[in-house]
Amino acid sequence: MIPLTIPDISEADIERVVGVLRSGMLVQGQEVEALERCAASLLGVGDVVAVSSGTAALHLALRSLGVGPGDEVIVPAFSFIATANAVELVGATPAFVDIDPATFNINVRQVPGAITPKTKAIIPVHEFGMPCDIDAVTELAAAHGLRVVEDAACAIGAKHGGRPVGSFGDLAAFSLHPRKTVTAGEGGLLACPDAGLARRLRSLRNHGIRTAGAEVHFDMAGFNYRLTDVAAALAAGQMERLPALLERRREIARNYLQGLAGCDDLRLPAGAAGHSWQTFHVVLPESVDRAKMIADLRGAEIGSNRGAQCIPAEAYYQEKYRLDCERRFPAAASCAKHGLALPLYPKMGEADVAHVVSGVRDALANQQ
Ligand SMILES: *Cc1c(COP(=O)(O)O)cnc(C)c1O
Repeated sequence: MIPLTIPDISEADIERVVGVLRSGMLVQGQEVEALERCAASLLGVGDVVAVSSGTAALHLALRSLGVGPGDEVIVPAFSFIATANAVELVGATPAFVDIDPATFNINVRQVPGAITPKTKAIIPVHEFGMPCDIDAVTELAAAHGLRVVEDAACAIGAKHGGRPVGSFGDLAAFSLHPRKTVTAGEGGLLACPDAGLARRLRSLRNHGIRTAGAEVHFDMAGFNYRLTDVAAALAAGQMERLPALLERRREIARNYLQGLAGCDDLRLPAGAAGHSWQTFHVVLPESVDRAKMIADLRGAEIGSNRGAQCIPAEAYYQEKYRLDCERRFPAAASCAKHGLALPLYPKMGEADVAHVVSGVRDALANQQ
């Protein structure tokens, strides 16, 4: 079976985890600090704060920026559900904007129409590792006094104009879930250019704590969003070899783009230079039954799945906001209905890639 992903865990990573177990220092020790420092240097930001998940990172980002009830936050209609859930978690209201179907990222031309006097922030997503038009987003945000929280959950190592995504916004959230390029099992990172804000994040992730010498005070009602050292030790080595992991991912994506070129009406992803290829996401022709396609691929021992949700069409959001998604977010609705993620991970061999390419071609031919 060729699954959607296999985490890139080396023997050295395992040794590093075992080292933590032997040390007895399981939480907030050296490995969390090492992971934070390595990520900060890779991303070129002043500070990185490790937390327990990508969703925790998004939640803390909004909380630390003071986003709350009565505020609106602009989010793309097509993303993983957590992007909008974080807005709900702080009691604010998501204002959905359609995506550009060529990039699967927020359609920046439609952002001005979603800005109201209540808009406080915007969460651009670098979906599937494809950098969004972050310059246009930060320009709009500056013009309207909005905060920018990059959802870079699936985009560690992606670059826009040669500069790492996650270094553009007021804050950026990354995920270390096993579906992502660098994994801790569960975990997340917050990239933060501002030292004061980073202090606030460190306090919020740890119950609102402030230490003054030997004294401990609690200034805020914080969370327990700490990352364990066991998890950090697993991710730290992957982070250190990220450039090599990304190079292999780009190679596989190039082979897919070549192998699937001209394949019926299959829509292939745009191959921007700074794409980190967390997911290879295609859009099936409208005539193709996706469930049957997934079953046929499974029959050929190939894992595949839908890529992301049209969030306002999911039950919670539909019941609360009742937005007509087909009319208001046609690109998001279409990608949610016809999108398909294919296997992509550094340990995939050339034969695996070729097998997926022929499997996809056969499954499509099967539906003609
Ligand atoms: C994975 C993902 C998240 C959530 O990250 P977790 O670590 O699973 O909480 C949020 N946003 C996007 C775009 C993601 O892909």
